[in-house]
Order: sequence, then C-alpha cells, then structure tokens
Amino acid sequence: MRVLFIFLDGVGLGADNPEVNPFARVPMPTLEGLLGGHRLLDEVAPLEMERASLYALDAGMGVAGPPQSATGQAVLLTGINIPAEIGEHYGPKPNPPIASYLQNGTLFSRLTQAGKRAALLNAYPPRYFHGVDSGKRLYSAIPLAVTSAGLPLFTKDDLFAGRALSADFTGTGWAEMLGFPESPVLSPEAAGGKLAALAQGYDFALFEYWASDYAGHKQDMPWAVRQLEVLDGVLQGLLSAWDDSSGIILITSDHGNMEDLSIRRHTNARVPGLLLGSLEARRRFALRFTALTDVAPAIWNAVMES
Ligand SMILES: [Zn+2]
Repeated sequence: MRVLFIFLDGVGLGADNPEVNPFARVPMPTLEGLLGGHRLLDEVAPLEMERASLYALDAGMGVAGPPQSATGQAVLLTGINIPAEIGEHYGPKPNPPIASYLQNGTLFSRLTQAGKRAALLNAYPPRYFHGVDSGKRLYSAIPLAVTSAGLPLFTKDDLFAGRALSADFTGTGWAEMLGFPESPVLSPEAAGGKLAALAQGYDFALFEYWASDYAGHKQDMPWAVRQLEVLDGVLQGLLSAWDDSSGIILITSDHGNMEDLSIRRHTNARVPGLLLGSLEARRRFALRFTALTDVAPAIWNAVMES
C-alpha cells in the first residue's frame, strides 16, 4: 500500500483555548469535516470517522525534558527510541550519534533497498545547496536520511517542472522571499492536488513542513492562523484528488510547539497521528499507534504488504 507522510514540525495536540492555540481559533472546515465537527485538539483523540482517524502519540517516550526535532524526526524515520538510547532529546540539527542512526537504516534506505520507490517531495532552493556544500549548513534529520539513502533532494528545476513542492505548499515563499518571482504559485487546493499526484509516483512519499515550528517559537498567532488556513485548503485539494483504495495519508509531528503560543519552547504535548484513507487500511496501519516509535514500523508494514 502507498503511504504519503505529511510531516508538520512542532504541532502538538493542545487545549481548547483560542487565546493560545491556533487550532482552537481558526475555522478549518475540511479538517473539521473529517473529524466529525471536532477540531484538532487533545481532548478529541482517539477518534475514528468515515475517512479519518485521530490518534494521540507520545513524543516524550520516557525521556525527561521537552522533545526536540533531531531526535524526534530520527525516531519517526527509524522506529528506534533514540532519546532513550542517547539519554536526551536533542536538536534542532542532528549531532554525530543521531546522524549515525539517520545514515543507517531509515525508512528511506530500507524501503529503497527492498525495491520500493521513496522520495522527499520538498524542493530546496539553490542557496540551500550552497550552504550545505560550503559547510555552513548542516542537514536536518530528514534530508540527511534521504541523502544517506542515495536519494536526491529536489531542486528549483524540479519545482519549476512540477516534480516537487515548495516547503510552504503554495510556492509563495519562492516567489516573494527567495527571489524567484517567476516561480509557480499554486492555490492551497491546487497544492493539495499536486501532493496527491506526486505521491502516486512513489510507494512512500514524505513532505516536510517546518513553518509550524517557527510560528511556535515566534509565538506568532497571525502567522499560525494563516498557516492553518492554507493547510485546510491543502487538505481539501489533497482529499478530493486522493484515491483511498490506493493508500493511506499520515499527518504527524515530532513534538508540540505551535499548539501553545503562550510559551516559546517546545511542549510535552502529545502529537497528532492523523490517518486518512479507508477504514480497513487505517485500522491495520494503527494496530499499535501510541508513540513516535510506532510510526516507522506502521509505514514499513503498510508499504511492504503491497
Ligand atoms: Zn523547534
């Protein structure tokens, strides 16, 4: 079965408090329609509806302190409780011990070795590659896993040719902030349709969205609200193009942050494990689904069963 994994950095399941939690504030008609009228809040999980299931995943995994991005993302890609093994949550970028997990045996490398097609759907701008090549920029966990598996990171040419998606979904950032005014800009709904179309080319496709974590660190409610409005449009386009019989969509995160804008740090909130697809496929996928360590095995089993 095909799996599309939409990774939202720094999104926990928070309280029903619109003062601090954008998920309690912004109308998200598509998401609420999927969740039977509920918002994406901690009190709602677990929930099983016609086309969606919501689980709450433990991101702390028995290790003290707020969860961090490098360890959290490495757990999502390996299924190993890396914070427990190295004795701490660590991030944002991988240190050498975390990097060694990402260089050996992630979903990307193992699925590729098993003959499956895997990809990271994000396009990276030229300045990103310059930064990496000059040693000024370290790979974050996900691109490190991708490149370590021998897979390419998509480029500006891929974005312009429609083979990849901008990290903000729509491409507005490329046109307005990265200096490519000729860059294609999609509506959120069209970006969701694009995501569905791109995922059809792979057994396992991942899309990484990081602005949610930034909004949490900046405690920027207006930006968080705009992001969720875009995300809801993306979900609308994605679901109208997605064939439930072909696979499952997973939306999850590495740690909480954006759901509580009263503090700048990551939170210890549980993170959403949102599954979209047929009821039968969701139930099989989520046989064991209570912590970040359960994500990689669930993806592996789903992809390998086909
Ligand atoms: Zn962060």
